[in-house]
Amino acid sequence: MQEPLERKKGLRRSILIVDDDYIAREILGKMLREQYEVSYAENGALALDIIRRDKLKLSLVILDLYMPEMDGYSLLKLLRADSELSRIPVIVLTSEQGAEVESLKNGAADFIAKPFDMPEVICARVSHSIELAEDSIIIHETERDELTGLFHKEFFFQYGKRLDELNSNMLMDAIVADINRFHVVNELYGRSYGNTVLKTIADSIHELVSSTGGLACRRDNDQFCIYLPHSDELRDKLPQYIAMIDERINDSNISLRFGVYSDDGSEKCMENRFDCAHHACQKLRGSYVSGFEFYNDEQHSRELYDERLINDMDKALSERQFKVFYQPKYSIQGDKPHLSSAEALIRWFHPEFGMVSPGQFISLFEDNGLIQKLDRFVWNEAAAQIKQWKEKYGIDLPVSVNVSRVDVFNSHLVEILEDITEINGLDNTKLLLEITESAYTDNSTQIIETVNTLRERGFKIEMDDFGSGYSSLNMLTSLPIDALKLDMKFIRGICENVKTERLVGIMIEIARLLEVPVIAEGVEKKEQMELLKKLGCDIIQGYYFSKPLPPEEFGALIEKEPEEKNYAYN
Ligand code: C2E
Ligand code: MG
Ligand code: MG
Repeated sequence: MQEPLERKKGLRRSILIVDDDYIAREILGKMLREQYEVSYAENGALALDIIRRDKLKLSLVILDLYMPEMDGYSLLKLLRADSELSRIPVIVLTSEQGAEVESLKNGAADFIAKPFDMPEVICARVSHSIELAEDSIIIHETERDELTGLFHKEFFFQYGKRLDELNSNMLMDAIVADINRFHVVNELYGRSYGNTVLKTIADSIHELVSSTGGLACRRDNDQFCIYLPHSDELRDKLPQYIAMIDERINDSNISLRFGVYSDDGSEKCMENRFDCAHHACQKLRGSYVSGFEFYNDEQHSRELYDERLINDMDKALSERQFKVFYQPKYSIQGDKPHLSSAEALIRWFHPEFGMVSPGQFISLFEDNGLIQKLDRFVWNEAAAQIKQWKEKYGIDLPVSVNVSRVDVFNSHLVEILEDITEINGLDNTKLLLEITESAYTDNSTQIIETVNTLRERGFKIEMDDFGSGYSSLNMLTSLPIDALKLDMKFIRGICENVKTERLVGIMIEIARLLEVPVIAEGVEKKEQMELLKKLGCDIIQGYYFSKPLPPEEFGALIEKEPEEKNYAYN
C-alpha cells in the first residue's frame, strides 16, 4: 500500500464526478480538469460500477445527492460500509440547508454548495479532502501491523490511554494472549505457516474487539494485547472463545495462553493492567494446551514479597540479620523432666519487614538452592553455640540442626559438617541432624547412602515431621535413623481425639520396633505432655516447656538444670 506516498510525488489524481445534471458536471469538470484526471457518472448505480473498477486509482468522488436510479445518500452508505471502498473520500454536492449535516453524518468528507462557489474555493476543498484522506491512510498503515492489521504496540497504548481519559469511569479488562512455543511452530512448519496462524488469531481477536468496542495490538512476535470494556462474564465466556480460536487454527500442536486482568476499579493505569495480565499469562508458560489465568492481587503481592526475600538474603547474611534461636527438648520418662538437647531454628530480623519466620522463606530458598548457604550458616552458629555453652557451663548439650532435602544432594555434605564440628572441637555426636521424612520418600536411595555415611562418622539423625511423609512401613525398617520426631499435627489433637491418640501410640510402637527414641514437638499443654509420657514418648519439645529462645535466654534454662546430666537420648 505505497500508493498514497507515490501519489504525493506529483502524479495526477483521479476524481469521479457523479451528477445527473450535465451542466453541473461540466462546470465542475472544467474547474478540476487542469489538475486532475476527471471521469463522470450520471447516477449512483453507474458511479458504483466505475468506483469498483477504479478503486485503486480513485482519489475522490464528488457526489450529487438527488439523482435517479441510485441517489447520493444510498451510494455514500454503500461506500462507507465497504472496507475496500471506504478509504475513498466523498464530497457531497448540496443545494438545500440541512443536507450538509446529514451527509457529514453519513461519512462525507466535505460538501460543496450549489450553485457553485468560486473555483478557487472548490479546488481548495477538493485538494484538502484528498490530502486528509491520504494522510489518514498513511497513519492507518504506520499504526497497524502489516501482517495482522492490528495496532502496533505504541499506537495501541496511545489510543487506550486516550480512551481511558475520555471515559474515566469505565472499567477496562486487559488480556494478554501468547502462543505456546511459537518459535517451534516457526522452526518446524516454516514462517509462512506461522504467519497464517498469527493471522487467524488476529482475525478472531479483531472480531472480539469489534463486537465489544475494544482495542487490540500485536505486541511482540507472537503476543497480543486486548483491551476491552469490563465484563463480569469474561471468566465464563473465555473458555468458549479460546475453543473457537483453537478450532479455527485446527492444529493440536498449537495452543494459546491467556492472562487476564479483570478490572475491579482499583485505578490501575492501562500499562499496569497489562503488566498484571502479562504476569498471569507467564504462569501458564510451558503448557501444551490452551488455557487462561486470571491475575490475583494477593498472590502477586506474595510473589513480590518472595522476590524481595530472595534478593535480600545475601545482604542479610553479611549484615547478620539472621539469628539462630534454640528450643529446648526435655526427656520426660524420669521422675522429673530434664533438658536433653535443643533445636536450632533460624529467625530473620529484616530491617523492613521485622521478624520473618522460617515458614515464609525456607521452602522459597529450597526452590532456588539458597537454603544451602543459610543452613551452613545455622550449622556453624549452632556448633559455635555448643562450644560456648561447654566453655561457660561445662556441659555438652547436643543441638539439632535442620538439614534440608536440598543439602542431601550436596556431595560435600559430610565434609562440610565434619569441618564444622572439627573447627569447634566437637564430637560429631553433638551435632544432631534433623531430616524431614518426606526427603526420604522423595529420594530414598541417595538419602539412605548419605545418611549411612553420616552415621558412620558419628552424626545422629532425627527423622523430622514423622507421619507426614508417607514412608511405607516396609521402608521404615531399613531406614538409618537415630530418633523419630512426630509431626506436630498429631500432637495438636491428641487429647481431643481418641483415634489420634491411638495413632500416636502406634507410631511410638514403630519407634520401639526400630529401637529409636521418640520426640514429640509442638507440645503446648500439660495434658498433652502427660498423655505422651503415658504412651511412652521419650522427649518433648514445645511451648509447654519453652518457645525457641535467643542463646542468651537459653542460658537461663541451662542454669536451672541439676548438676548431673544425661544429654541426648539417654
Ligand atoms: P521444624 O523443624 O519441624 O521445627 C519445629 C517448628 O515448630 C518450629 O517452627 C518451632 O518454632 C515450632 N514449634 C515448636 N514448639 C511449638 C509449639 O508448642 N507450638 C507451635 N505451634 N509451634 C511450635 P519454626 O521455627 O517456625 O520453623 C518452621 C520450620 O522451618 C521448621 O520446622 C523447619 O522445617 C524449618 N526450619 C527452621 N529453621 C531452619 C533452618 O535453619 N534450616 C532449615 N533447612 N529449615 C529450618
Ligand atoms: Mg526440625
Ligand atoms: Mg518438625
